[in-house]
Amino acid sequence: CGIVGYIGTENVKDILLKGLEKLEYRGYDSAGLAIVDESDDVQVVKEKGRIATLRAEAEEVKPVGTSGIGHTRWATHGAPSARNAHPHQSTNRRFTLVHNGVIENFESLKADYLSDVELESDTDTEVVIQMIERFVDEGEEVDIAFRRVLSLLKGSYAIALLDGEADDRIYVGKNKSPLLVGMAEDANVIASDSMAMLHITKTFVELMDEEVVTVTRNGIWIQDLEGHVIERETFTAELDE
Ligand code: GLU
Repeated sequence: CGIVGYIGTENVKDILLKGLEKLEYRGYDSAGLAIVDESDDVQVVKEKGRIATLRAEAEEVKPVGTSGIGHTRWATHGAPSARNAHPHQSTNRRFTLVHNGVIENFESLKADYLSDVELESDTDTEVVIQMIERFVDEGEEVDIAFRRVLSLLKGSYAIALLDGEADDRIYVGKNKSPLLVGMAEDANVIASDSMAMLHITKTFVELMDEEVVTVTRNGIWIQDLEGHVIERETFTAELDE
């Protein structure tokens, strides 16, 4: 399992596919991409099986855009299938999310917050995106809803979130699953492993547990789950591509 993300100026599809291929050793029950296209719509392509299958489908669908997220899945809850493949979307399709890890309390969260929502997958992941939609519908700002949902989760996660109404940013968060943010000129990236994004940059920032980052084309903002801003030094990945 692994996640990647890119927001910049180049065609994101090939960047994400190349990144996912580098992460394929971590698991490949299914793979998927979400790309913010030229009309600012979020296009999702996901397939059971290997990245090669996803690549073939993505060539066919041809989503073109300069920001997006991708996922390879190692299924923990819900069969390995297209239905359970990430990215997952909220009911109103505003929010799109990829997740690595295990949400241990997903059943109680579902009972407490989503008893009236018809879920579209059998994963532990989907409650996260549906709760974000719910809290935003109730009037919360997206970044606050994101931090609130993460603070309610028990278990492990590396998460990347797209908001269809604010396509200039990707929200990420992590707890007990690896996640790095990488910085390039006019572009920033996210990855479970620096290896996945060495074709874009060698400059990375490591995230600590229970931190979130707002990633835009020009900058990154790290915060803890209460919203306090955190400064962090970058490091240079020494590996060859
Ligand atoms: N627990 C999630 C699922 O089964 C994420 C699995 C992963 O880390 O790939 O869908």
